[in-house]
Amino acid sequence: MGRIPPISRSAVAGAKNATVRECRSISMPTPASPLHASPNPDRTIMPFVVTDSCIQCKYTDCVEVCPMDCFRQGPNFLVIVPDNCIDCSMCVPECPVGAIYNETDLPPEQRHFIEINARLAAHPDWQPITRSQAPLPDHESWREVANKLEFLKLA
Ligand code: SF4
Ligand code: SF4
Repeated sequence: MGRIPPISRSAVAGAKNATVRECRSISMPTPASPLHASPNPDRTIMPFVVTDSCIQCKYTDCVEVCPMDCFRQGPNFLVIVPDNCIDCSMCVPECPVGAIYNETDLPPEQRHFIEINARLAAHPDWQPITRSQAPLPDHESWREVANKLEFLKLA
């Protein structure tokens, strides 16, 4: 897999009311090879995608059920490694805030998270998470907040 280009402004244009200064500034090094030891090397789209509701909450219930250890975590968000996901959908009902969608079911205003998941899954600082951990301290106050992309932290 080649170098992933920076997230474009158009890729995040669907994020209503969200400023994207942090995501626009993503500049990815060449992905580390372990993230690309893929059981599905020919996959070209995301199967399942973590979306806006996860930002600032990170409940992590989802990671316990994933048979492929697909999840990677940043400071306040989780993503799914697209090449590893086998479309089992087991993670979807585990998320208490409904943040995980099949790519084909994504609401139009959440489609920019396809690229965000793919890019952050290849970020060298976003490491695998396979065991549930405590949610972020202010998760209750963020739980019902929409359009949190501007708060996404990369490192
Ligand atoms: S369960 Fe949902 S909110 Fe929690 S980490 Fe997974 S995707 Fe994010
Ligand atoms: S759909 Fe299955 S394989 Fe894909 S991230 Fe969810 S639990 Fe893991």
